[in-house]
Amino acid sequence: MTLQHVCTASSETRPVRLPTCPQCGDTLLAPLLAEHVDPGVVHNHWVCESCGHSFRMSHRFAADAF
Ligand SMILES: [Zn+2]
Repeated sequence: MTLQHVCTASSETRPVRLPTCPQCGDTLLAPLLAEHVDPGVVHNHWVCESCGHSFRMSHRFAADAF
């Protein structure tokens, strides 16, 4: 499966909200690492391929979604 297939598949079920680099504004396609710290919390670690800036975004889900 290619990244193109992943993006196509995910866009069929929900709108794709890709983050942009806070440093240069380039669109980021996939997190470098997804850290599941809690059943309802995921920390995504992003690294910009354009400028190399790295940052973390936390995502919270409803606990009953799992
Ligand atoms: Zn960047």
